[in-house]
Amino acid sequence: MVPSPATPYTGRFAPSPTGPLHFGSLATAVASYLDARHHEGRWLVRMEDIDPPREMSGAADRILQQLEAHGLYWDDAVLYQSQRSEAYQEVLQQLLEQDIVYPCHCSRQQLKERGGLHLHRCTHDGDTDGPHALRLGVTEQSEIGFEDIFQGKQQQHIKQTVGDFVLLRKDGLFAYQLAVVVDDAFQQISHIIRGSDLLNSTARQIYLQQVLGFSQLLYGHLPVAVDLQGHKLSKQNLAKAVDEHSPTLNLWTALQWLKLTPPEELRHTTPEQLLAWGVNHWQREAIPHLMLQPAPIF
Ligand code: GLU
Repeated sequence: MVPSPATPYTGRFAPSPTGPLHFGSLATAVASYLDARHHEGRWLVRMEDIDPPREMSGAADRILQQLEAHGLYWDDAVLYQSQRSEAYQEVLQQLLEQDIVYPCHCSRQQLKERGGLHLHRCTHDGDTDGPHALRLGVTEQSEIGFEDIFQGKQQQHIKQTVGDFVLLRKDGLFAYQLAVVVDDAFQQISHIIRGSDLLNSTARQIYLQQVLGFSQLLYGHLPVAVDLQGHKLSKQNLAKAVDEHSPTLNLWTALQWLKLTPPEELRHTTPEQLLAWGVNHWQREAIPHLMLQPAPIF
């Protein structure tokens, strides 16, 4: 274990309850747990249940059971984003008052015609009649650079590549980018270890942290587990749920996928013991600089 860091480490795993954990999401949970515990940090779980149309009934409870069955015990109570509307609303109100967000009535078709980039205010006098999204007006000074723990130097000019992005969706739901930034600050997260499918969102999150005056976090994006055809294992493509009845085997496979080689005698131990070995031997440098990495075949 490394000596206590100067700044306290708080990590988190933040699943969306669109289905139970599959191999890829378990490996992400394991990596974020190991990185936190190796640095003597706290590790929190946040349930990102803010998009009911995409969610599967019972998935949130099943995910928590799967984590516990694998010895992945979290600190504090689980934070549910479905309970956080007031906090998100408050931030939106503040941004509206500062005139940094604006209502947008544009259709998908209109956006497509502009190459998907929304660059300017499209309403006059903040017209809020009818269904509309709220977009953050991004400035030209929005070149964001950061050093990813696994993937190295990253750079994105938000205005030029993403444009003004949505914080409140037209269907009235809070956008992921808003909720994640507000909650990471609220939970005093310092390190985020997650899949590379979110690498493209990170600059937007850092930008929003700057706009809101929150501290910037450290990010590490792991390769995403893919099937033989190169498709991301996802709850949507019905990747197999990890079996709570073989936790040590699942963890063993996840550790190997994270380039750790536990000793043979731990193959049939408890999940807790295998994780304790992982905490001691966790090595950030071993993680490949890859966006995608094939999942093992079970
Ligand atoms: N809820 C997101 C997901 O399950 C992860 C968000 C994050 O780690 O920032 O893909």
